[in-house]
Amino acid sequence: MTAATKFDPASIDCAPYAKGLFIGGKWLPGSGIPVVNPSDESILAEVPDASVADAMAAVDAADAAAKGWRKTPPRQRGEILRRCFELMTARAEELATLISLENGKALSDARGEVAYAAEFFRWYSEEAVRIAGEFRMAPAGTNRILVDYQPIGIAVLITPWNFPAAMATRKIAPALAAGCTVILKPASETPLTAYALADIYAEAGVPPGVVNVITTTQPGPVTNAMLADPRVRKLSFTGSTPVGRALLAEAAKTVVNCSMELGGNAPFVVFDDADLEAALDGAMVAKMRNAGEACTAANRFIVQSGIHDAFVAGLTKRMAALKMGPGTDAATGVGPMITKKAVDKIEHLVADAVTRGARIELGGSRPTDKGFYYPPTVMTGVSTASEMMHEEIFGPVAPVYRFETDEEAIAMANDTEYGLAAYVFTQDLKRGLSVSGEIEAGMVALNRGLVSDPAAPFGGVKQSGLGREGGVHGILEYMEAKYIATAF
Ligand code: NAD
Repeated sequence: MTAATKFDPASIDCAPYAKGLFIGGKWLPGSGIPVVNPSDESILAEVPDASVADAMAAVDAADAAAKGWRKTPPRQRGEILRRCFELMTARAEELATLISLENGKALSDARGEVAYAAEFFRWYSEEAVRIAGEFRMAPAGTNRILVDYQPIGIAVLITPWNFPAAMATRKIAPALAAGCTVILKPASETPLTAYALADIYAEAGVPPGVVNVITTTQPGPVTNAMLADPRVRKLSFTGSTPVGRALLAEAAKTVVNCSMELGGNAPFVVFDDADLEAALDGAMVAKMRNAGEACTAANRFIVQSGIHDAFVAGLTKRMAALKMGPGTDAATGVGPMITKKAVDKIEHLVADAVTRGARIELGGSRPTDKGFYYPPTVMTGVSTASEMMHEEIFGPVAPVYRFETDEEAIAMANDTEYGLAAYVFTQDLKRGLSVSGEIEAGMVALNRGLVSDPAAPFGGVKQSGLGREGGVHGILEYMEAKYIATAF
């Protein structure tokens, strides 16, 4: 494996990453979607705006490649995926710089994302050869039950802007390991990373048509047309809950199998008996990774009375130490938000909480500089009637709520339609496991600020989603169980 080399952000030219739509292994040039650098509002490049006809060409390409890929021996598929991991790792600095430029996140976060994203290829290169079946006696003793897992078919993958590399590889790697061909539609805000990765797949030996990448300003009509095509058998979506709901309704028309990774409203519960420093370390990761633009981001700090003031003081001190600036500056701890609209939403949520009695301990007002910035903000005395109690803030704002009893903490944590991630801090393992069991979430981090792991099942309950990505579970989302009743 080649060692990762340093990459100078000042020298990066984004135009080569905007070569065109990637369909059937070919680049089809086009334009129509400017990619904005959220740090200074400059245009980095322009990518093509796919039409419905382009999307159907991508389905044709995925269909033409499907038979060959399905029949490619699992070992060979695994080795290609392994090469994707190696090439991504070798080009980690370049990819991290690109992510930081188009998304705005701090380089340290972008580097973490690339490592995480590449790991899906390593993990699924290993899973590709371990797809198990079943063979057992029927309870009646009259015959045997044979279960084979087969690739589900062509998969449409739709991803958001907040993790431009990882949300794509978390879908592409298991889909390819399972033997499926795919069409990826990345978010228009961050398409350059998706196209850069397409080059890597080709170099790694992914055959033409197995992965197709299209960007469009009409995601609705384009996706609906693909879902209406009977060759498409899978939709895997990561994004907001409202769009997820609309896609589930659309997929119902042709009964397309769906995996949904949707929004979150993670509680971060700190009990009096927590290790304060560990809770603060965890809080900074859970809140400030990606400047708060993560579905797993701690959205509500629910802190017990006895530790409340010390926690607020520690959190405020750490948040105040973060330097805000362009993601690609080495000193930056908090980059810009993705768009002006995102900053407007944060500003609205903070103003609403203040109107309902919240006190600003730090930050709380946007700067006037160019770029979509919002400063690290800590708020106390936040009313549970505030909009931010129920909505994703998706920014560097930490509202702190106070509680007295375990029952109160659990009730507050569960008072949401979401159920993705949750964080619990206590030194009492019995209490920690009991509360983790009671909280309605797909993932709980106990005394940790990070849950994501390519080897673990990622996903939500309630309106945070359907299905799991990663781990041994992730590949099954791209497979169908075929049962054969054998007559012996
Ligand atoms: P979004 O729902 O606005 O967009 C996500 C993707 O869907 C984009 O590619 C967009 O172009 C596309 N899209 C929008 N409308 C569509 C339509 N009608 N048909 C088909 N595709 C459509 O979300 P976003 O703002 O890009 O991302 C932020 C959201 O994603 C947050 O809610 C966050 O919590 C969620 N998210 C969830 C996870 C998870 O794993 N659960 C991970 C990351 C982000």
